[in-house]
Amino acid sequence: APAAPSNFIRTLIDKDLAAGKNDGAVITRFPPEPNGYLHIGHAKSFCLNFGLARDYADAPGGARCHLRFDDTNPVKEEQEYIDAIKENVRWLGFDWGEHEYYASDYFDQLYAWALQLIEAGKAYVDDLSAEEIRTYRGTLTEPGKNSPYRDRSVAENRELFEKMKNGDYPDGAKVLRAKIDMASPNLNMRDPVLYRILHAEHHRTGSKWCIYPMYDFTHGQSDSLEGVTHSICTLEFADHRPLYDWFIEQLGIHHPQQIEFARLNINYTVMSKRKLLELVEGGHVSGWDDPRMPTLAGMRRRGYTPASIRNFCERIGVSKKGSCVDIGFLESCIREDLDHNAPRAMAVLNPLRVVIDNYPEDQVEEFQAPVHPQQPERGTRTVPFSKVLYIEREDFMEEAPKKFFRLAPGREVRLRCAYFIRCEEVIKDPVSGEVVELRCSYDPASRGGASPDGRKVKGTLHWVSAEHALDAEIRLYDRLFLTENPSADKDVDFKSQLNPESLQVLSGCKVEPSLADAVPESRYQFERQGYFCVDQVDSVAGRLVFNRTVTLRDSWAK
Ligand code: ATP
Ligand code: MG
Ligand code: MG
Repeated sequence: APAAPSNFIRTLIDKDLAAGKNDGAVITRFPPEPNGYLHIGHAKSFCLNFGLARDYADAPGGARCHLRFDDTNPVKEEQEYIDAIKENVRWLGFDWGEHEYYASDYFDQLYAWALQLIEAGKAYVDDLSAEEIRTYRGTLTEPGKNSPYRDRSVAENRELFEKMKNGDYPDGAKVLRAKIDMASPNLNMRDPVLYRILHAEHHRTGSKWCIYPMYDFTHGQSDSLEGVTHSICTLEFADHRPLYDWFIEQLGIHHPQQIEFARLNINYTVMSKRKLLELVEGGHVSGWDDPRMPTLAGMRRRGYTPASIRNFCERIGVSKKGSCVDIGFLESCIREDLDHNAPRAMAVLNPLRVVIDNYPEDQVEEFQAPVHPQQPERGTRTVPFSKVLYIEREDFMEEAPKKFFRLAPGREVRLRCAYFIRCEEVIKDPVSGEVVELRCSYDPASRGGASPDGRKVKGTLHWVSAEHALDAEIRLYDRLFLTENPSADKDVDFKSQLNPESLQVLSGCKVEPSLADAVPESRYQFERQGYFCVDQVDSVAGRLVFNRTVTLRDSWAK
């Protein structure tokens, strides 16, 4: 794969390599917490981290990217999420080899380091409640207050911490805190909590532990243990960097460099596992892999290709400044991919029956239509034609304005790759008045779609042969939210901004018979309709289900 364009992180790594730092190695990591499925924001992070490992493969000390599960919160974490995360990362084409790690594997080491800080007088057991700790912490404009338990002796702290570990206290009774500076202008440095008591079963360590280390006490040391050289995280963690550095320095261990970049935001969606979980649990979507979700599982089911997501992540770039990317840009990345790669097919979403009166009753002709009109080397597909066809209901108008270049009484159109047809008669339901059938004539001389007399028709319609077409369900997706930033107003529930019309299910659609063997996840351009993907979950032989990935053109463009 071609190397990604340069950015400030690459510049920094180049400098480190030139200076001979880290023995010439470049070691990054992607550290998801297994408390939900990955979203496109995570893809930005792991494309960056794995991309660096790929592009610096020739560094004198080698390069690699670790996959580390940051599993320090037993209550919210599950094996299902771990499996899904691994599948997502692999799907995007990245490989961590044997470098799969779990923060929970470091619990013994972290506990030993906590004792080391206690011995050094740098940590203490505090009996204040979570609420009191918050109050004592102060604010940005007011210094914090020391806890009355701050000056406990080393011996007492050691004993209490061991008792915490042994399960002598209930949840929340005590915490272990670092002893740093309650007047620091950085709130993270005001004696942060290192350990809390939580009598909860952990998905990997079972009931071995009833105290769990906090994120800040785990993350940097995990990086250090693994020999990570460049620990890349999002901007929110810039304020945590002094703490990251403090722990490493106090413990005297390998010092990775934390580097922050701006997280990805996309409009008309939400990008937080907590909110996505709320959508799943509230039944607002069908699951984490609902094709409307910005999760990688959802995007995959929607029809996004790994290449389109990697391209997107590369093109948005990496910067220090936060911004919001237009969802139209994401869509343009998949449209570009599918325009080039997806085979063409004809599908009628909302069928209207057409009978060609002057076409022989039992005749069937087979037309050859190109798999891809710009790539003749990809060959053709066989499209049967017969007396009874379906066209798109919206391609007919009884009282059509002059500029309507589709079918209308007395007007002529071209059927793609087939013949010219003229609408001779409109049959309606006698009760409802709805148009139920068109009686047409065809011009046998126009076979293949051109007339020898040079007669021009403006419209070309897609169609299927009624006898040969396959039934399909087609799902059309629109934006999940009506507003650009559903979370903009803290007092408004983001779920109130959901688009009630984000999913439209069409049944009784008719697709050309070449799609009989379409396998799950295969993608097509349905001519004139957009790009569609065979649903991974619900589509089975004899009951085809297609998801619209994206329309042909950006219908939202102004
Ligand atoms: P969320 O708030 O969605 O749960 P998170 O940051 O808590 O996200 P983690 O599982 O901790 O989720 O994330 C793993 C990695 O992915 C982290 O390094 C994090 O910085 C990165 N990441 C998460 N969201 C984004 C985003 N929107 N853009 C870029 N990177 C992200
Ligand atoms: Mg996190
Ligand atoms: Mg989070």
